[in-house]
Amino acid sequence: MDTLEQSNNTGELIAILAAAQDAPENVTLHIITDSQYAINGIHKYGQKIERLGYIDTANREIVKAIRASLRMRPGDTYFEKVKGHSSNVGNDGADALAGTGAVREEYDNINLAIPTDYDIEGAEFIGLTQAQLYRGIREKLEKLLKPRRGAVVWLDIIRWAVKEKTETFPTDRTIWRAIRHPDIDRKVRAYLYKTIHNTNKVGEYWEKIPGFEGRAKCPQCDNRIESVEHIMTECTGTGQQTIWKLADDLLTKKNIDIKNQSIGGILGCALPQFKLATGRPNKALNRLYTIIMTESLYLIWIIRCEWIIENMGDPDKILSEQEITRKWMHRINRRLRLDQIMSTKQQYKWKKVSRKLVLETWQGVLNNEENLPTDWTQIRGVLVGTGVGMRPPGRNR
Ligand SMILES: [Zn+2]
Repeated sequence: MDTLEQSNNTGELIAILAAAQDAPENVTLHIITDSQYAINGIHKYGQKIERLGYIDTANREIVKAIRASLRMRPGDTYFEKVKGHSSNVGNDGADALAGTGAVREEYDNINLAIPTDYDIEGAEFIGLTQAQLYRGIREKLEKLLKPRRGAVVWLDIIRWAVKEKTETFPTDRTIWRAIRHPDIDRKVRAYLYKTIHNTNKVGEYWEKIPGFEGRAKCPQCDNRIESVEHIMTECTGTGQQTIWKLADDLLTKKNIDIKNQSIGGILGCALPQFKLATGRPNKALNRLYTIIMTESLYLIWIIRCEWIIENMGDPDKILSEQEITRKWMHRINRRLRLDQIMSTKQQYKWKKVSRKLVLETWQGVLNNEENLPTDWTQIRGVLVGTGVGMRPPGRNR
């Protein structure tokens, strides 16, 4: 092991390592620190440093151990930078720990062990200078040259699915831009981004981590390996069948049939090409389709995570059709309400949308629509109606 740098920086890193290793693995870890050094090393430039094989990185053993520990946690991790020596309790605690670390001669009880196979050693070929290449990593070249397949494969799957439906062949850039569209909920955008990059902790991800191999399998479906495709189109534990049925019922009212969608079609749902009779894009219909599809796929993911992570895949915790329907209606109605708000005023994090577009988007799918005024954007309690799980009109919760 390299000698650890004795400094306040080292102490901060060790405090974070302790948090990463000791916090219950499913909780969201919120790391509050005044050390920009730690945030840069672990988070901001972490990937880059990792790619370069930790060459010339001070405290490399600790940074590596932190990144490996964080990556193994199913829970998310957030970093928050605070001013040093504020009255923030958590931060003062970390500082106290950092102070102790800095004066210690030896770092006993610090677990820098990284599970084998998980210790990302070699640098990737790209981004290396000639000099760096010769600095002891040459023998690893063969390993390094393995292409990173995740995003490339998913982009192709989406591209072909979109082509099949719309006769257009979107470029990578078009796909990335589409999934960043402001009509899509911010969390769903992040989910799609991670899915296409293959960085969600699902299936094969766990197979590579010693001691966690069991997590690769779906607890419900005959030991099938979990995958995005399984979760979204096959699984009997994620509510996907009910959710796609609800989405189909709603979209059928606009003459859209989404039965038997492929995973490519689902993940490519931000690229619809419905057209008006004039041949121009049907903006409102495209918008409704993307909203319903993204809200639905994300609900499936949420239900999957609650069931598998929080409830440990307990078969008794699989939601009933009724519960799933209630959740779906709630999500779609929440999104409808958000549309109403966005059409009347600028919202934090949401772009303003024209009232006309909002009215057109939801036209034909609302509950009790014939009794609504032409402009219903200011009326509380407007709901979508699907025929299934419909709630009495006029109620708002
Ligand atoms: Zn399953």
